[in-house]
Amino acid sequence: MTESRQEPVLASTSPRQPFVADDVLLLGPGPSTVSTRVREAMLQPLLGHLDPQFTALMDRVQDDVRLAFATAHPFTLVLPATGTGGMEATLSTTIEPGDRVVVAVSGYFGERMRDIATRVGGDVVEVRAEPGRAVEADAVIAAMRAGPTRVVAMVHAETSTGVLQDPLPIALVAREVGALVVLDCVTSLGGVAVELDAWGIDAAYSCSQKCLGAPPGLSPVSLSPRAERKLAARARHPSSFYFDPALLAAYWGPQRLYHHTAPVSTFYALAAALDEVAAEGLPARWARHREVAQALARGLEALGLVLLVPPQQRAPMLTTVLVPEETDDAAVRARLRQRHRIEVGGGLGALRGRVWRVGLMGHGARPAHVERLLVALGEELQRDPADALAAARLDG
Ligand code: PLP
Repeated sequence: MTESRQEPVLASTSPRQPFVADDVLLLGPGPSTVSTRVREAMLQPLLGHLDPQFTALMDRVQDDVRLAFATAHPFTLVLPATGTGGMEATLSTTIEPGDRVVVAVSGYFGERMRDIATRVGGDVVEVRAEPGRAVEADAVIAAMRAGPTRVVAMVHAETSTGVLQDPLPIALVAREVGALVVLDCVTSLGGVAVELDAWGIDAAYSCSQKCLGAPPGLSPVSLSPRAERKLAARARHPSSFYFDPALLAAYWGPQRLYHHTAPVSTFYALAAALDEVAAEGLPARWARHREVAQALARGLEALGLVLLVPPQQRAPMLTTVLVPEETDDAAVRARLRQRHRIEVGGGLGALRGRVWRVGLMGHGARPAHVERLLVALGEELQRDPADALAAARLDG
Protein backbone atom coordinates (compact mmCIF):
# COMPACT_ATOMS: atom_id res chain seq x y z
CA MET A 1 0.00 0.00 0.00
CA THR A 2 1.43 3.44 -0.88
CA GLU A 3 1.30 6.05 1.81
CA SER A 4 -0.41 9.27 0.77
CA ARG A 5 1.87 12.19 1.52
CA GLN A 6 0.60 15.75 2.02
CA GLU A 7 2.67 18.19 -0.10
CA PRO A 8 3.26 21.52 1.67
CA VAL A 9 1.38 24.37 0.01
CA LEU A 10 1.32 28.08 0.77
CA ALA A 11 -2.23 28.30 2.11
CA SER A 12 -2.88 29.12 5.73
CA THR A 13 -5.99 27.97 7.52
CA SER A 14 -5.81 30.69 10.18
CA PRO A 15 -5.20 34.46 9.88
CA ARG A 16 -1.53 35.37 9.91
CA GLN A 17 0.11 38.28 11.69
CA PRO A 18 1.44 40.78 9.17
CA PHE A 19 5.11 41.68 9.52
CA VAL A 20 5.67 44.89 11.50
CA ALA A 21 9.21 46.27 11.51
CA ASP A 22 10.64 47.84 14.66
CA ASP A 23 11.43 51.52 14.45
CA VAL A 24 15.21 51.25 14.70
CA LEU A 25 17.58 54.19 14.38
CA LEU A 26 20.02 52.97 11.74
CA LEU A 27 23.48 54.19 12.76
CA GLY A 28 25.41 51.37 11.13
CA PRO A 29 27.30 51.27 7.84
CA GLY A 30 24.05 51.38 5.84
CA PRO A 31 21.23 51.33 5.10
CA SER A 32 20.77 54.64 6.89
CA THR A 33 17.57 55.91 8.44
CA VAL A 34 15.40 57.65 5.81
CA SER A 35 13.04 60.58 6.22
CA THR A 36 9.29 60.08 6.49
CA ARG A 37 8.88 61.85 3.17
CA VAL A 38 11.18 59.38 1.42
CA ARG A 39 9.40 56.44 3.04
CA GLU A 40 5.98 57.77 2.08
CA ALA A 41 7.07 58.31 -1.51
CA MET A 42 7.04 54.52 -1.91
CA LEU A 43 3.33 54.34 -1.09
CA GLN A 44 2.34 56.03 -4.34
CA PRO A 45 0.52 53.94 -6.98
CA LEU A 46 2.76 51.74 -9.08
CA LEU A 47 3.36 52.90 -12.63
CA GLY A 48 4.58 50.69 -15.45
CA HIS A 49 8.34 50.81 -15.96
CA LEU A 50 7.81 52.14 -19.51
CA ASP A 51 5.00 54.53 -18.55
CA PRO A 52 5.74 58.07 -19.78
CA GLN A 53 5.28 59.53 -16.31
CA PHE A 54 7.77 57.03 -14.91
CA THR A 55 10.33 57.52 -17.69
CA ALA A 56 10.07 61.28 -17.09
CA LEU A 57 10.93 60.56 -13.45
CA MET A 58 13.92 58.50 -14.63
CA ASP A 59 15.11 61.53 -16.63
CA ARG A 60 14.81 63.72 -13.57
CA VAL A 61 16.71 61.24 -11.39
CA GLN A 62 19.38 60.97 -14.08
CA ASP A 63 19.88 64.76 -14.12
CA ASP A 64 20.13 64.84 -10.33
CA VAL A 65 22.62 61.96 -10.27
CA ARG A 66 24.83 63.78 -12.80
CA LEU A 67 24.81 66.82 -10.53
CA ALA A 68 25.53 64.70 -7.46
CA PHE A 69 28.52 63.08 -9.21
CA ALA A 70 29.57 66.52 -10.60
CA THR A 71 29.83 65.13 -14.10
CA ALA A 72 28.64 65.81 -17.61
CA HIS A 73 29.18 62.16 -18.62
CA PRO A 74 26.31 61.27 -20.98
CA PHE A 75 26.41 57.70 -19.67
CA THR A 76 25.08 58.30 -16.17
CA LEU A 77 22.18 56.20 -14.98
CA VAL A 78 20.82 54.15 -12.12
CA LEU A 79 21.14 50.37 -12.01
CA PRO A 80 18.48 48.17 -10.41
CA ALA A 81 21.12 46.83 -8.05
CA THR A 82 22.92 47.49 -4.80
CA GLY A 83 26.42 48.91 -4.58
CA THR A 84 27.97 45.56 -5.41
CA GLY A 85 26.01 45.57 -8.68
CA GLY A 86 27.59 48.93 -9.51
CA MET A 87 30.98 47.45 -8.71
CA GLU A 88 30.39 44.45 -11.00
CA ALA A 89 29.00 46.66 -13.76
CA THR A 90 31.88 49.14 -13.83
CA LEU A 91 34.69 46.60 -13.40
CA SER A 92 33.29 44.16 -15.95
CA THR A 93 32.88 47.03 -18.39
CA THR A 94 36.26 48.71 -18.00
CA ILE A 95 38.42 45.57 -17.65
CA GLU A 96 39.11 43.27 -20.58
CA PRO A 97 40.57 39.83 -19.92
CA GLY A 98 44.35 40.13 -19.57
CA ASP A 99 44.32 43.85 -18.68
CA ARG A 100 46.81 44.88 -16.01
CA VAL A 101 44.69 46.32 -13.19
CA VAL A 102 46.06 48.07 -10.10
CA VAL A 103 43.70 47.95 -7.11
CA ALA A 104 44.28 50.08 -4.01
CA VAL A 105 43.07 48.08 -1.02
CA SER A 106 42.52 49.60 2.42
CA GLY A 107 39.82 47.21 3.62
CA TYR A 108 37.05 44.77 2.87
CA PHE A 109 35.49 46.65 -0.04
CA GLY A 110 38.84 47.22 -1.75
CA GLU A 111 39.30 43.46 -1.44
CA ARG A 112 35.91 42.97 -3.06
CA MET A 113 37.01 45.20 -5.97
CA ARG A 114 40.20 43.15 -6.29
CA ASP A 115 38.20 39.91 -6.33
CA ILE A 116 35.74 41.12 -8.96
CA ALA A 117 38.58 42.55 -11.08
CA THR A 118 40.19 39.10 -10.94
CA ARG A 119 36.94 37.31 -11.82
CA VAL A 120 36.45 39.41 -14.94
CA GLY A 121 39.92 38.41 -16.12
CA GLY A 122 42.10 41.30 -14.93
CA ASP A 123 45.75 40.69 -14.19
CA VAL A 124 45.49 42.29 -10.77
CA VAL A 125 48.24 44.05 -8.84
CA GLU A 126 47.13 44.84 -5.30
CA VAL A 127 48.54 47.77 -3.31
CA ARG A 128 47.61 47.51 0.36
CA ALA A 129 47.33 50.05 3.13
CA GLU A 130 48.25 49.65 6.78
CA PRO A 131 45.11 48.67 8.72
CA GLY A 132 42.98 51.77 9.35
CA ARG A 133 44.97 53.95 6.96
CA ALA A 134 44.53 55.17 3.38
CA VAL A 135 46.62 53.56 0.66
CA GLU A 136 49.82 55.54 -0.03
CA ALA A 137 49.27 57.33 -3.34
CA ASP A 138 52.98 56.99 -4.19
CA ALA A 139 52.78 53.20 -3.85
CA VAL A 140 49.78 53.07 -6.20
CA ILE A 141 51.54 55.37 -8.66
CA ALA A 142 54.69 53.21 -8.58
CA ALA A 143 52.57 50.10 -9.24
CA MET A 144 50.86 51.85 -12.16
CA ARG A 145 54.18 52.81 -13.68
CA ALA A 146 55.68 49.35 -13.20
CA GLY A 147 53.80 47.90 -16.18
CA PRO A 148 51.29 48.76 -18.90
CA THR A 149 48.34 49.49 -16.57
CA ARG A 150 44.90 49.65 -18.17
CA VAL A 151 42.75 50.26 -15.11
CA VAL A 152 43.27 51.55 -11.58
CA ALA A 153 40.52 50.99 -9.02
CA MET A 154 39.96 52.26 -5.49
CA VAL A 155 37.35 52.92 -2.83
CA HIS A 156 36.72 56.57 -1.96
CA ALA A 157 35.26 55.96 1.53
CA GLU A 158 36.20 52.48 2.79
CA THR A 159 33.24 51.51 4.96
CA SER A 160 35.03 48.65 6.69
CA THR A 161 37.62 50.98 8.22
CA GLY A 162 36.19 54.51 7.94
CA VAL A 163 39.11 55.74 5.84
CA LEU A 164 38.75 58.39 3.13
CA GLN A 165 41.07 57.96 0.13
CA ASP A 166 42.07 61.02 -1.94
CA PRO A 167 41.69 59.78 -5.52
CA LEU A 168 43.14 62.86 -7.21
CA PRO A 169 46.92 62.18 -7.19
CA ILE A 170 46.29 58.64 -8.44
CA ALA A 171 43.81 59.76 -11.10
CA LEU A 172 46.25 62.39 -12.42
CA VAL A 173 48.95 59.78 -13.05
CA ALA A 174 46.39 57.32 -14.44
CA ARG A 175 45.58 59.84 -17.15
CA GLU A 176 49.28 60.20 -17.94
CA VAL A 177 49.83 56.43 -18.29
CA GLY A 178 46.55 55.87 -20.16
CA ALA A 179 44.73 53.89 -17.45
CA LEU A 180 41.03 54.18 -16.74
CA VAL A 181 40.13 55.14 -13.17
CA VAL A 182 37.32 53.28 -11.34
CA LEU A 183 36.09 54.87 -8.10
CA ASP A 184 33.76 53.28 -5.54
CA CYS A 185 31.53 56.10 -4.24
CA VAL A 186 29.08 53.81 -2.44
CA THR A 187 29.57 55.46 0.93
CA SER A 188 30.92 58.85 -0.12
CA LEU A 189 28.29 60.17 -2.53
CA GLY A 190 26.12 62.81 -0.86
CA GLY A 191 28.24 62.91 2.32
CA VAL A 192 31.53 64.35 1.07
CA ALA A 193 32.65 66.06 -2.15
CA VAL A 194 32.70 63.75 -5.18
CA GLU A 195 33.81 65.39 -8.42
CA LEU A 196 34.12 62.91 -11.24
CA ASP A 197 34.98 65.36 -14.01
CA ALA A 198 37.38 67.54 -12.01
CA TRP A 199 39.22 64.44 -10.76
CA GLY A 200 39.22 62.57 -14.09
CA ILE A 201 37.25 59.52 -12.95
CA ASP A 202 36.19 57.16 -15.76
CA ALA A 203 33.80 54.85 -13.97
CA ALA A 204 32.04 55.47 -10.68
CA TYR A 205 29.23 53.80 -8.83
CA SER A 206 27.30 54.43 -5.66
CA CYS A 207 24.19 53.23 -3.85
CA SER A 208 20.85 54.64 -2.77
CA GLN A 209 20.95 53.61 0.89
CA LYS A 210 23.70 55.62 2.53
CA CYS A 211 24.37 59.37 2.24
CA LEU A 212 21.74 59.91 -0.48
CA GLY A 213 19.12 58.90 2.09
CA ALA A 214 16.95 56.38 0.21
CA PRO A 215 16.30 52.67 0.80
CA PRO A 216 18.64 50.05 -0.70
CA GLY A 217 18.16 48.67 -4.20
CA LEU A 218 19.53 51.25 -6.64
CA SER A 219 23.05 51.99 -7.79
CA PRO A 220 23.88 55.24 -9.61
CA VAL A 221 26.72 54.71 -12.10
CA SER A 222 28.64 56.92 -14.50
CA LEU A 223 31.06 56.12 -17.33
CA SER A 224 33.30 58.70 -19.00
CA PRO A 225 33.52 59.02 -22.79
CA ARG A 226 37.01 57.44 -22.49
CA ALA A 227 35.48 54.40 -20.80
CA GLU A 228 32.75 54.27 -23.44
CA ARG A 229 35.36 54.36 -26.22
CA LYS A 230 37.24 51.46 -24.65
CA LEU A 231 33.97 49.58 -24.38
CA ALA A 232 33.14 50.18 -28.04
CA ALA A 233 36.58 48.89 -29.08
CA ARG A 234 36.38 45.67 -27.03
CA ALA A 235 37.02 42.42 -28.85
CA ARG A 236 34.06 40.83 -27.01
CA HIS A 237 30.98 42.20 -25.30
CA PRO A 238 31.17 42.24 -21.49
CA SER A 239 29.83 38.87 -20.33
CA SER A 240 26.94 40.32 -18.30
CA PHE A 241 23.65 40.98 -20.09
CA TYR A 242 22.13 42.69 -17.05
CA PHE A 243 25.01 45.16 -16.73
CA ASP A 244 25.75 45.68 -20.44
CA PRO A 245 26.05 49.48 -20.82
CA ALA A 246 24.83 49.43 -24.44
CA LEU A 247 21.60 47.67 -23.45
CA LEU A 248 21.16 49.88 -20.40
CA ALA A 249 21.69 53.01 -22.49
CA ALA A 250 18.95 51.90 -24.90
CA TYR A 251 16.51 51.70 -21.97
CA TRP A 252 17.61 55.05 -20.54
CA GLY A 253 17.82 56.73 -23.97
CA PRO A 254 15.00 58.17 -26.10
CA GLN A 255 14.09 54.76 -27.57
CA ARG A 256 13.22 53.41 -24.09
CA LEU A 257 13.90 49.86 -25.22
CA TYR A 258 12.87 47.32 -22.61
CA HIS A 259 15.87 45.81 -20.83
CA HIS A 260 14.66 45.08 -17.28
CA THR A 261 11.71 45.99 -15.08
CA ALA A 262 12.84 49.00 -13.08
CA PRO A 263 12.03 48.86 -9.33
CA VAL A 264 9.47 51.63 -9.69
CA SER A 265 8.67 52.28 -6.01
CA THR A 266 12.35 52.43 -5.06
CA PHE A 267 12.82 55.05 -7.79
CA TYR A 268 10.06 57.13 -6.19
CA ALA A 269 12.00 57.01 -2.95
CA LEU A 270 15.31 57.88 -4.60
CA ALA A 271 13.69 60.80 -6.42
CA ALA A 272 12.29 62.10 -3.12
CA ALA A 273 15.68 61.66 -1.46
CA LEU A 274 17.37 63.59 -4.29
CA ASP A 275 14.77 66.36 -3.82
CA GLU A 276 15.92 66.57 -0.21
CA VAL A 277 19.57 66.66 -1.26
CA ALA A 278 18.79 69.48 -3.69
CA ALA A 279 16.78 71.43 -1.10
CA GLU A 280 19.65 71.22 1.37
CA GLY A 281 22.36 71.77 -1.25
CA LEU A 282 25.36 69.47 -1.53
CA PRO A 283 27.93 71.78 0.14
CA ALA A 284 25.63 72.22 3.16
CA ARG A 285 25.08 68.46 3.27
CA TRP A 286 28.82 67.77 3.23
CA ALA A 287 29.30 70.33 6.04
CA ARG A 288 26.54 68.68 8.09
CA HIS A 289 28.17 65.25 7.71
CA ARG A 290 31.56 66.69 8.69
CA GLU A 291 30.23 68.53 11.74
CA VAL A 292 28.23 65.66 13.21
CA ALA A 293 31.13 63.26 12.61
CA GLN A 294 33.46 65.57 14.52
CA ALA A 295 30.90 65.87 17.31
CA LEU A 296 30.62 62.07 17.47
CA ALA A 297 34.40 61.68 17.57
CA ARG A 298 34.68 64.18 20.46
CA GLY A 299 31.88 62.44 22.31
CA LEU A 300 33.29 58.93 21.85
CA GLU A 301 36.73 60.06 23.00
CA ALA A 302 35.18 61.75 26.04
CA LEU A 303 33.57 58.38 26.82
CA GLY A 304 37.10 56.98 26.92
CA LEU A 305 36.90 55.19 23.56
CA VAL A 306 39.63 55.12 20.92
CA LEU A 307 39.05 55.72 17.21
CA LEU A 308 40.83 53.58 14.62
CA VAL A 309 41.59 56.23 11.98
CA PRO A 310 43.71 59.39 12.44
CA PRO A 311 41.60 62.58 12.09
CA GLN A 312 43.01 63.69 8.71
CA GLN A 313 42.10 60.35 7.05
CA ARG A 314 38.61 59.91 8.51
CA ALA A 315 35.60 59.47 6.26
CA PRO A 316 33.00 61.79 7.81
CA MET A 317 30.05 59.42 7.42
CA LEU A 318 31.59 56.31 9.01
CA THR A 319 33.44 56.21 12.31
CA THR A 320 35.28 53.11 13.52
CA VAL A 321 35.80 52.84 17.24
CA LEU A 322 37.87 50.14 18.94
CA VAL A 323 35.88 47.73 21.09
CA PRO A 324 37.31 48.20 24.60
CA GLU A 325 39.24 45.30 26.14
CA GLU A 326 37.10 42.87 28.11
CA THR A 327 33.97 44.04 26.28
CA ASP A 328 31.74 41.63 24.41
CA ASP A 329 31.35 43.30 21.00
CA ALA A 330 28.25 41.39 19.88
CA ALA A 331 26.50 41.62 23.28
CA VAL A 332 26.82 45.42 23.36
CA ARG A 333 25.48 45.72 19.82
CA ALA A 334 22.61 43.38 20.63
CA ARG A 335 21.68 45.47 23.69
CA LEU A 336 21.86 48.67 21.67
CA ARG A 337 19.39 47.11 19.24
CA GLN A 338 17.07 45.56 21.83
CA ARG A 339 17.04 48.13 24.61
CA HIS A 340 17.77 51.36 22.75
CA ARG A 341 16.50 50.57 19.24
CA ILE A 342 19.81 51.64 17.72
CA GLU A 343 21.76 49.70 15.10
CA VAL A 344 25.53 50.08 14.87
CA GLY A 345 27.77 47.86 12.76
CA GLY A 346 30.33 45.29 13.81
CA GLY A 347 33.77 44.87 12.24
CA LEU A 348 34.19 43.30 8.81
CA GLY A 349 36.96 41.02 7.59
CA ALA A 350 40.18 41.54 9.56
CA LEU A 351 38.38 43.95 11.94
CA ARG A 352 35.64 41.51 12.92
CA GLY A 353 35.11 41.69 16.67
CA ARG A 354 37.63 44.54 17.01
CA VAL A 355 35.62 47.65 16.05
CA TRP A 356 32.15 49.12 16.05
CA ARG A 357 31.17 51.00 12.93
CA VAL A 358 28.95 54.02 13.46
CA GLY A 359 27.38 55.53 10.38
CA LEU A 360 26.04 59.08 10.37
CA MET A 361 24.71 59.14 6.85
CA GLY A 362 22.11 61.12 4.94
CA HIS A 363 19.02 61.83 7.04
CA GLY A 364 20.69 60.00 9.95
CA ALA A 365 23.55 62.50 10.27
CA ARG A 366 22.08 64.68 13.03
CA PRO A 367 23.27 65.95 16.42
CA ALA A 368 20.23 64.40 18.17
CA HIS A 369 21.27 60.97 16.90
CA VAL A 370 24.82 61.48 18.16
CA GLU A 371 23.43 62.31 21.60
CA ARG A 372 21.09 59.32 21.62
CA LEU A 373 23.96 56.99 20.78
CA LEU A 374 26.32 58.48 23.39
CA VAL A 375 23.70 58.08 26.12
CA ALA A 376 22.97 54.48 25.09
CA LEU A 377 26.65 53.55 24.81
CA GLY A 378 27.39 55.21 28.16
CA GLU A 379 24.67 53.09 29.74
CA GLU A 380 25.84 49.85 28.15
CA LEU A 381 29.50 50.45 28.97
CA GLN A 382 28.62 51.78 32.44
CA ARG A 383 30.27 55.12 31.79
CA ASP A 384 28.75 58.49 32.65
CA PRO A 385 27.85 60.20 29.33
CA ALA A 386 27.75 63.76 30.78
CA ASP A 387 31.23 64.74 29.56
CA ALA A 388 30.63 63.02 26.22
CA LEU A 389 27.42 64.98 25.68
CA ALA A 390 29.17 68.23 26.56
CA ALA A 391 32.06 67.42 24.22
CA ALA A 392 29.72 66.50 21.38
CA ARG A 393 27.74 69.72 21.53
CA LEU A 394 28.04 71.29 18.11
CA ASP A 395 28.88 74.70 19.52
CA GLY A 396 31.32 73.19 22.01
N1 PLP B 1 31.48 49.44 -1.55
C1 PLP B 1 31.45 50.01 -0.33
C2 PLP B 1 32.49 51.04 0.01
C3 PLP B 1 30.48 49.65 0.59
O1 PLP B 1 30.43 50.22 1.80
C4 PLP B 1 29.52 48.67 0.23
C5 PLP B 1 28.48 48.25 1.19
O2 PLP B 1 28.44 48.65 2.33
C6 PLP B 1 29.59 48.11 -1.03
C7 PLP B 1 30.58 48.51 -1.90
C8 PLP B 1 28.60 47.08 -1.45
O3 PLP B 1 27.34 47.66 -1.49
P1 PLP B 1 25.99 46.80 -1.29
O4 PLP B 1 26.04 46.21 0.06
O5 PLP B 1 24.93 47.86 -1.46
O6 PLP B 1 25.97 45.79 -2.37
